[in-house]
Amino acid sequence: MPNTKRTLVTGGSGFLGSYLCESLLADGHDVLCVDNFQTGSRRNIEHLLGHPRFELMRHDITVPLYVEVDEIWNLACPASPVHYQSDPVKTVKTSVMGAINMLGLARRTKSRIFQASTSEVYGDPHIHPQTEGYWGNVNPNGPRSCYDEGKRCAETLFFDYHRQYNVQIRMARIFNTYGPRMSENDGRVVSNFVVQALKGEPLTLYGDGSQTRSFCYVDDLIRGFRALMSCDDSVPQPVNLGNPTELTILELAELVVQLTGSRSRVEFRALPGDDPLQRKPDISRATDMLKWKPEIALRVGLERTIKYFDAHLSGRQTRIHLELMDAGDTGIPAAPMHIIGRNGDGARI
Ligand code: NAD
Ligand code: UDP
Repeated sequence: MPNTKRTLVTGGSGFLGSYLCESLLADGHDVLCVDNFQTGSRRNIEHLLGHPRFELMRHDITVPLYVEVDEIWNLACPASPVHYQSDPVKTVKTSVMGAINMLGLARRTKSRIFQASTSEVYGDPHIHPQTEGYWGNVNPNGPRSCYDEGKRCAETLFFDYHRQYNVQIRMARIFNTYGPRMSENDGRVVSNFVVQALKGEPLTLYGDGSQTRSFCYVDDLIRGFRALMSCDDSVPQPVNLGNPTELTILELAELVVQLTGSRSRVEFRALPGDDPLQRKPDISRATDMLKWKPEIALRVGLERTIKYFDAHLSGRQTRIHLELMDAGDTGIPAAPMHIIGRNGDGARI
């Protein structure tokens, strides 16, 4: 196989996919970006459209695709709970039929194929932090099941295509990842909080805010993707990719308010059904086998994300004095945190 490959990136105009396309192009590969634009945006890949090695194809991966490629990256699937729950049947089809179609393509073209799996396969985990050996605690018929079970079934298909047809697979279990280019209306917590803080609107905190997550900056994750795809067959699959720094969602809200210098308050809302109480990756496998670990601290990644959204919203919103951030951590004034509203039980906070 030549060093420069004909790569296919499904979901390439989404948040993560657009960074992956850039990374592959930078290393000299051809990139065929395939997307149905359900949640992705042309804006994410606009700067790549004139590139001689970049091609964009509007296509839905629930339909078979006949192209000649050397390497497949399967990222197509809405990732935000708001989006994947808005058409749950379509979400299952994308994960399951999309996996079958892309695995069939990998089999025919003898391409190595990467699957963007998720920490959601662990559901509401009883093991903490989550190791790859944990089978998970997943509700098969709740509001998140279309995503969780769809991704679990995709994992099954990937391993069966490997065992039955010897397809070369690489599988990342991705933990919450954030950064510039998330969509303003994405509904995920980092984009929601940052946009709300910049607009001076209340931060919508679901539940009492004690649930935890561990947030990985997008550049770290893409570096992990590339290391995983190029690793040899001795590396056991799947591999957790995420940042193990865990914090509560209330702590995240406080940090966003502090970093934006916003006067926003926190407004408590009901916790959505089946929302996992805790999540933190055990990344020993990635550290040992891929020599990968995240390098961007949450505070630094959030500052970059805030700058992005501030520029994105500019003209419509009060400017936040982000230049203060360039003074480093110690230069950021701690803004007071105002908490109002009701928790999930309707009690006054
Ligand atoms: P995203 O919603 O920004 O991107 C998904 C992309 O897939 C979009 O461009 C969308 O239009 C496209 N798409 C959806 N259904 C499709 C279909 N049927 N055919 C073709 N294209 C389709 O989400 P993201 O954050 O970039 O996530 C990318 C992948 O990583 C997803 O598979 C997601 O499940 C996985 N993942 C992401 C995270 C995260 O924190 N960002 C965490 C775990 C897993
Ligand atoms: N969340 C929140 N306010 C929001 C959006 C999300 O409090 O505006 C909470 C959500 O209930 C969950 C956590 O933040 O506990 C992470 O949510 P997200 O949708 O980003 O990711 P996921 O639940 O898939 O990990």
